[in-house]
Amino acid sequence: MSTQILGIDLGTTNSLVAICDERGPRVLRDEDGHALVPSVVRFGTRGEVVAVGREALAHAVEFPRETVYSAKRLVGRSATEIGEVAARLPYRVVPGPRGIAAIEVPTSAGSALVTPQEVAAHVLARLKTIAERELQHGVSKAVITVPAYFDDGQRQATRDAARLAGLEAVRIVNEPTAASLAYGLGRPASRGPRKAERIAVYDFGGGTFDISILEISSDESAAGGDLFQVLATAGDTALGGDDIDRAIIDLVMREIRETFGAALDFPPSARQALRQFAEGAKVALSERETTTLEVGLGTGRTYRRTLTRADLEALAAPFVERTLVSCRRALADSGCNVESIDRVVLVGGSTRMPIVRREVERVFGKVPYTALNPDEVVALGAAVQAAILAGDRRDLLLFDVLPLSLGIETVGGAVAKLLMRNATVPARAKEMFSTSVDGQTNVKIHVMQGERELVQHCRSLGQFELRGIPPMPAGIPQVEVEFLVDQNGVLDVSAVERRSGRRASIQVVPSYGLTRDEVDRIEAESFRHAREDMHVHRVIDLRVNAALDLKWIETALARVRGELPAATVAEVEARMDEVRSFLAAADRDAASVDANCFHQAKDALDRASVPVHEKAIAQSLRS
Ligand code: ADP
Ligand code: MG
Repeated sequence: MSTQILGIDLGTTNSLVAICDERGPRVLRDEDGHALVPSVVRFGTRGEVVAVGREALAHAVEFPRETVYSAKRLVGRSATEIGEVAARLPYRVVPGPRGIAAIEVPTSAGSALVTPQEVAAHVLARLKTIAERELQHGVSKAVITVPAYFDDGQRQATRDAARLAGLEAVRIVNEPTAASLAYGLGRPASRGPRKAERIAVYDFGGGTFDISILEISSDESAAGGDLFQVLATAGDTALGGDDIDRAIIDLVMREIRETFGAALDFPPSARQALRQFAEGAKVALSERETTTLEVGLGTGRTYRRTLTRADLEALAAPFVERTLVSCRRALADSGCNVESIDRVVLVGGSTRMPIVRREVERVFGKVPYTALNPDEVVALGAAVQAAILAGDRRDLLLFDVLPLSLGIETVGGAVAKLLMRNATVPARAKEMFSTSVDGQTNVKIHVMQGERELVQHCRSLGQFELRGIPPMPAGIPQVEVEFLVDQNGVLDVSAVERRSGRRASIQVVPSYGLTRDEVDRIEAESFRHAREDMHVHRVIDLRVNAALDLKWIETALARVRGELPAATVAEVEARMDEVRSFLAAADRDAASVDANCFHQAKDALDRASVPVHEKAIAQSLRS
């Protein structure tokens, strides 16, 4: 194995470290399971570092002048250049060596000067520690990402920061390029020459917004590599999720004043709480439709209000609109029209907001890539670049055919396959499903990968819910599920309920987390268990159908019992009991049920119940 090279996203708000091994790229986590390290450092009375990351962030409001965040905005820039940015930061920004912006932190002896790259170095050192703890060996090299618009000085400052942290920055990569690599865009040309592709990378983070238009072409001179060319960038270094948090805070403060009078004084700890709280509400509304805001104001007074997603979207809309203006400008600058953009990639935590996804899709006229975690995608791509540089094989990401079948979970824990193993990529398949319970308004779509017949023997790729189906009897809703794997191996699963038009979808990268060896093992197992699996699948299908039959017959029998000869009723009931005992056995252990006997019992019930149905039909015709 070659030396491991880390992939690092050194962000304005948050930073992460990832690696790429034979399972594909993955982020590394600290001992508490956190992948995101807030890019925040607090300095002590001697100018020493007292906290980095989450811990430093937690007390930022209490130590406004000692806690440095957003230092990336200052990296490699002159103090005069960033006057406006500096004015909004609670710590002091002063001209440092050669007029470059530096930070003056208070100490017991007066003050100490810290450069932005020193701050970055402390964050990088934390990431290095996280990586070494998880990998259980030392690492000394990293690929580090920077915004596409960073100039040479800023790139050099980033290298310096790495060096201070004991890391060699083997390559500085543009963030949008890294995000594209994470999606397998612009991979080494194993499939022969590909046409140039145009990618829009929309990156909406905590404090900055960037849009980049890239062109990827195969580059013969670069030994099978691809050439990523930045055609245009645009954005706003003072626009991000923080603005939306602030809009929520402003709303809350205004309403508190209106309700409780103007004379409320917010101590710093309350302001900090309010900030976390506003962000929490915003994040919650990416998943839910409503959330409750509650702020204790002391002396028994509490401010409480429901915030809906619509409320939040009204607050966020002006900021989202500003990102769209930049998108249009970048398109114009790149000389591309919207139709010539092949892919749109979403980056940054703020792109989890439904309003952002909707608007980006509207402006670019295509569904953006969302399979990967938007706040992890840059680090994952940096790790992919690191693996390429280390010479690690990447054939895992290079499937021309589906290595394993893809499908969804159906009733009873069986797997319905929509796309079969070895299907050539791109691939598409559609299938109709329905509900299994009367009045069911939500359907869970559980996306599975593997060759076996049962959920427990396949790999779960993700799940989502189709909500808001109007209540109907079981089997009536028509849920069309579509699988689409594009040429980059990204799977898009969407579900639409035909009558109501309700839809929901998910994206995943099925090849991640899977090694060649595992693919082989899964294939071998499917052969070994083929017979037993088929049997279990058949029992499950019988179970589902028999349960539906029983339900019908029970209802009909209740209505017409009095009109039937006692012997017929007794016969039907005996057959029903027999089927019920098969159902119970199938629930206990489907593998041990004799499918043929089960089938015969079900047939016998169907035959015996013919008079019941006839009477029931005659009765409904009469009434
Ligand atoms: P940066 O690139 O600036 O370091 P990130 O990509 O980590 O920033 O994004 C941080 C921002 O994303 C924060 O404003 C945070 O509140 C926001 N964010 C994270 N998760 C969500 C979510 N589920 N819904 C809405 N916003 C989110
Ligand atoms: Mg970022």
